[in-house]
Amino acid sequence: MKLHIGFDDTDSPRGGCTTYVAALIIEKLHGLGVRFIDYPNLIRLNPNIPWKTRGNGALCLRIMCEDSLYGDVKEQVITVIEENSDLSYKGTDPGAVFLVGDVPEEVKRFAKEAIQGIVRMRDALKIIRKFGAEAVGYNAGRGIIGGLAAIGETLEGDHTFELIAYRKRENWGSPRRIDESSVKEMDKKMAGLTFNNVDPESGRILITPRGPDPVLYGVRGETPEAVKRAHEMIRSYEPIECWVIFRTNHGTDAHLKRIPSIRDARAYDPVILQGIVVGSPKIIPGGHVIFQIRDETGTIDCAVYEQGGRLREVARELVEGDLVEVYGGVRPPSRKNPKTVNVEKINVLNLAEKIVLRNPLCPVCGKRMKSMGRSKGFECYKCGFHGPNLEKMRVKVERNISPGLYVAPPRSERHLTKPLSRYGLEKKHYSHGFSEIIPYDAFWCKVMI
Ligand code: ATP
Repeated sequence: MKLHIGFDDTDSPRGGCTTYVAALIIEKLHGLGVRFIDYPNLIRLNPNIPWKTRGNGALCLRIMCEDSLYGDVKEQVITVIEENSDLSYKGTDPGAVFLVGDVPEEVKRFAKEAIQGIVRMRDALKIIRKFGAEAVGYNAGRGIIGGLAAIGETLEGDHTFELIAYRKRENWGSPRRIDESSVKEMDKKMAGLTFNNVDPESGRILITPRGPDPVLYGVRGETPEAVKRAHEMIRSYEPIECWVIFRTNHGTDAHLKRIPSIRDARAYDPVILQGIVVGSPKIIPGGHVIFQIRDETGTIDCAVYEQGGRLREVARELVEGDLVEVYGGVRPPSRKNPKTVNVEKINVLNLAEKIVLRNPLCPVCGKRMKSMGRSKGFECYKCGFHGPNLEKMRVKVERNISPGLYVAPPRSERHLTKPLSRYGLEKKHYSHGFSEIIPYDAFWCKVMI
């Protein structure tokens, strides 16, 4: 039988990582003799949902096995989840879903909604019942949502790969020890084949997380071969327990949905929204830039955070009348702030004229004049000419930005955001359609030392 196993929500800010649970499950399933019909899938869901731990990632393993093995497979999956979830943490609600056969269109649609919006447990359970799938949940069991969504995202369009190397248990929680210069060298050699290894603005290494989780590093790239080669170039001063190559929707913009008007911007949705800039951008304490856009249905605030680097500078240069497309997550209104788009990208479509008012030039000697006070005209410093009826001049100034797409630097990018370096590399389809076997050692390796 063809079996899809989706699971989510095993970790907490105190530790753990659902991708590591996947690594453990893969080893157990291999031991049972199942065959894998896809790389393990790491599916990022809507990055704006408030109850995520970190990156809102869910996992799916797609296998082929004898019908008689189904019970053993289920038992192994459940045991690993139980033994490796932070069940005593409030808000960790693990869930697993088992679906036999091909993935129904309705499950695919559910996944799209979970990536681009908010879905309900009720709907997940209805679908699970309808297609005779099985689900197991702990605590509130919310991970069932992510599990079903991971099954439904079959990554038939654009996708990327990530090789995640895991630390030995005794090192969890201690500072990660890898040779940063080897990462920078790898980044140069593997340009175009890997992405977001190093932040170009700050030089910061981006492949290592900072928390107490078991991940040593993750290398993102276009093909399994590329991420494996990149991994072989990284020098680590601590032992690696194992590594896994995942097929993912990282760096594909899968979360962003174009919405027709500002009125349609729903809280927590990732959106692409067109509008005309109103007034001048403001810089608020903390260095964040806020600008407003409008269309015929209303206005909405847009925020570019201090970490936005160059994107923040672009936002500051916007002027009234510019036509822009903003990409980002809709933050609901709070007591202090109205509904706001947290901007990930800005596409400047059309620049308005930037006009500033300047004192007039002296009609006698050509020097810039000085104001004599409100409605009292102007006086020339140099030749003393008085012009009581002269008015300020409207001067068109050069714009410091040009139309085009501007993206936040990799250090502040979300997993799903397509980096500039991936534009043009999008994959149109994934041809094998779960009909071929992917050798286990192509994506999973226990490191023996
Ligand atoms: P990590 O990435 O470190 O594994 P996480 O950030 O994925 O952690 P979880 O602990 O998995 O966070 O919490 C996310 C929870 O939200 C899961 O229970 C998942 O089922 C649920 N969820 C994810 N996306 C949606 C959505 N679009 N609508 C409703 N619930 C969702």
